[in-house]
Amino acid sequence: MKIQKPHAVLVASPGMGHLIPVLELGKRFVSQHDFQVTVFAASTEASTVQSHLQNSPEYTNNNLFKVVSLPSVDTSASVDTDATVATKIIVMMHESLPALRSAISAMKPRPTAMIVDLFGTEAMAMADEFGMLKYMFIASNAWFLAAMIYAPALDEKGLDEHANQKLPMKIPGCTAVRFDDTLEPFLNANDPMFQGFLLACMAMSTADGILVNTWEDLEPKTLAAFRDTKLLGRVAKAPVYPIGPLARPVGPVGPPVLRSHVLDWLDTKPTESVIYVSFGSGGSLSAKQMIELAWGLELSQQRFVWVVRPPIENDVSESYLTVGKDSNGVHDYLPEGFLSRTHCIGLVIPMWAPQAEILGHPSVGGFLSHCGWNSTLESIVNGVPMIGWPLFAEQKMNATLLTEEIGVAVRCNPAAADGMLVGREEIKTMVRRVTVEKQGHAMRSRVKEAKCSAEKALSRGGSSYNSLTHVVEECETGLQGLIAKSHGS
Ligand code: UDP
Repeated sequence: MKIQKPHAVLVASPGMGHLIPVLELGKRFVSQHDFQVTVFAASTEASTVQSHLQNSPEYTNNNLFKVVSLPSVDTSASVDTDATVATKIIVMMHESLPALRSAISAMKPRPTAMIVDLFGTEAMAMADEFGMLKYMFIASNAWFLAAMIYAPALDEKGLDEHANQKLPMKIPGCTAVRFDDTLEPFLNANDPMFQGFLLACMAMSTADGILVNTWEDLEPKTLAAFRDTKLLGRVAKAPVYPIGPLARPVGPVGPPVLRSHVLDWLDTKPTESVIYVSFGSGGSLSAKQMIELAWGLELSQQRFVWVVRPPIENDVSESYLTVGKDSNGVHDYLPEGFLSRTHCIGLVIPMWAPQAEILGHPSVGGFLSHCGWNSTLESIVNGVPMIGWPLFAEQKMNATLLTEEIGVAVRCNPAAADGMLVGREEIKTMVRRVTVEKQGHAMRSRVKEAKCSAEKALSRGGSSYNSLTHVVEECETGLQGLIAKSHGS
């Protein structure tokens, strides 16, 4: 008789920063625990990079692993074009529910568990309907999760103190969130985004568990607070499983021709001598800021690889859902003569680069990053110290965690995230601090320690390995329940 394996359905919201960690989670279930996995990926209009990723052999070569694109939905009638990226994603996920529902209802035998990401909480009701276990996967850190879990417990006074009086948001047992680092929904409690955020936060407490992309040694204090019923454990109804770091291993995403060019270039450079500059899958800078960054890199006299996108004027996350769409003319936005003056020390890549491979290359010694959590983890698992230049979402919290708690990054002027220019001299100083100065050496040794602790957490018997095993065992028990039910016992 064929033995039935647990089948997990993973739902990824639009955006590469959401899809990549979900795919990695699915891969781990398949490779380490022999699960069957179906990833449902909500599509964005510009999906060239996404389809390249989804179709890469690491996911398609295994018949236990399947990636299904949900049909892209037209949200133009239901959401303003100038709405925030988060609002657009919420609407896209909502409108993708019918397609998801009909796909799951057609699955025989019924999958054992559903795992949704931050924007997928609405789908959890479907798991109840189909008798599946339901988990949330927070592809970020425990401190961000703590802020989410605590948000519904904040009373009006607490909310007013944080949002209006700009006082730090105190979370029991965790580091307080400074107003300057706060999450966008907290900025305006009357905005529908805040209500949507609260609903997602509340839905978390109904999950069978929350998987979070961090590990015990990286955030011991926050993770302990979740378990302490006198602290955050008071409000955290669902168990929290730190299962990270799930980070993309070295492997190409994007046009292969670009890949070899960058890596060939890096091959000719000395060990740990190049700074990699990238603002994630969709972050962009203003035209003025791009000019300053170009000058800062040039003045630093350090080698660099810079992923350049056309500048934006309004929303720094504007291109988050359209990555890979327009790759023409980025060079036009750089200072005159920049490319010819820097061609010996620098490489400019338009739009998209094979980031995991670049960070894994021995010549890379620093990462100027927007502090998206995937980028952060890719940097840590490759032992690369960072310059934090947060732009949106929870990136300011991430930058604070990296600089003030973990000690693996320096941070540019925090006002940069609010539209203030970071000047060329400051950029030059930060780049040199990471690449050549003493502070950089100290950060480098700390990030290498973090890299070792990550490897330990993931190895058999390590804290993250055990955490995921716990979830696996619950799914196996759930499967037995489903089988018994289908036999009418
Ligand atoms: N990425 C990449 N090439 C690029 C830009 C981004 O491969 O040119 C990948 C990066 O390696 C990471 C993800 O896209 O895995 C970005 O996720 P992150 O959480 O850092 O930021 P987000 O894009 O969500 O802002």
